[in-house]
Order: sequence, then structure tokens, then C-alpha cells
Amino acid sequence: MTNNYQPRRLVCGAKTHWSGEPCKRWAMAGTTRCRSHGGASPQAQAKAREREATEKAQRALSKQMLQQGAGAVIPPVTDPLRVLSSLAGEIVALKDFFGSRLLSEGLTPAEISSYERALDRARSVLVDMGRLNLEERQVALDQRTAGIVIDAMATFAKAMGHNPSDLVVREVIRNSLLEANARSKAIDIKAGSR
Ligand SMILES: [Zn+2]
Repeated sequence: MTNNYQPRRLVCGAKTHWSGEPCKRWAMAGTTRCRSHGGASPQAQAKAREREATEKAQRALSKQMLQQGAGAVIPPVTDPLRVLSSLAGEIVALKDFFGSRLLSEGLTPAEISSYERALDRARSVLVDMGRLNLEERQVALDQRTAGIVIDAMATFAKAMGHNPSDLVVREVIRNSLLEANARSKAIDIKAGSR
């Protein structure tokens, strides 16, 4: 396998002033603009470095997958809250790193924008975590409530002289739960549309 990867070279897509036609000169590596159309600007170069780093990581990952052969699997995320909190840990550590540097020795303008981005990411990952945590707790609560209701109905059926494990009795319990659930959803929709 060869390792001499060359990023795909594009032509500049900027429109020329006089004719309105695309410029078509070679774009600078990793950008979509030639030198005279902003390909050498700090922003375009920063974007190009970032894209290069991402592509490099993706190539390393696919190479690793190829080496593992047919059995290679990317492990699925089964516990999003745990993954999200480890991600939040990394982002918050980065934010704290910039924060303490800011106090001790000051930051360069580029570091300041990285710091601002880290602050913003830390905020949004924490918001996501809060939201996910609430949803998980709501699902757990719903399951618990359903368990309590089913138990109560089985007890009631027994008190009325029925066998709660009897198929017909179970069917009645199931149907009345579904009906009650549908009614409560209709109430929710009504309340929401006010
Ligand atoms: Zn150009």
C-alpha cells in the first residue's frame, strides 16, 4: 500500500471581476481559492490545516479498520450520557487550560478565539447533557409508573375474583391501559395547542 497521499487539488471558484467567469487557476492546497482570491489568507489557511488534520485522522482510522480485516467494527454508542460526559470532561479541561493561561501569561489572539470556542462548546455540551439526562429520567419514571399501574390493576382483578395471569384478564388490563394512555395523550395535545 502506498502512503504518498496528495490532497485533491481544486481550481479556484472565485468569479473574476471583469467577466464574471470562474477564475479557474489552481486553488492553494486545501482551499478552494487561488492566491489572488484569498487562498493565502489566514482564515483560508487555518481552514486548510483543520481539514488536513481531520483527513489525516480519518485515513489513520480507515487504515486501522483495514488491518483488522472483515471483523472490524466501530463499537456502537450504547450509553450516550456516559460518552457525552467524557466529551464534556475533555472540553472543560481545554477551557480550564486556556482560562488559567489567560490569567498567568495572557493569550495570543488565536488562542483567545480558541478559548472562546472552547467556552461555547463547553456550554453547549453541558446543555445537551442536561437535556439527555432529563429524557432518560423521564423514560425511567414512565416505566416505573407503568409497572405500578399494572400491579395495581392485577391486584384489583384478583380482589374481584379473577386470576391476573389468565389470558383474558391480561388482555382486559392491556386494553384499558392502552385506552387510558391514548386519552391522556389527547389531553396533552389539547393542552399543547392552547
Ligand atoms: Zn482565483
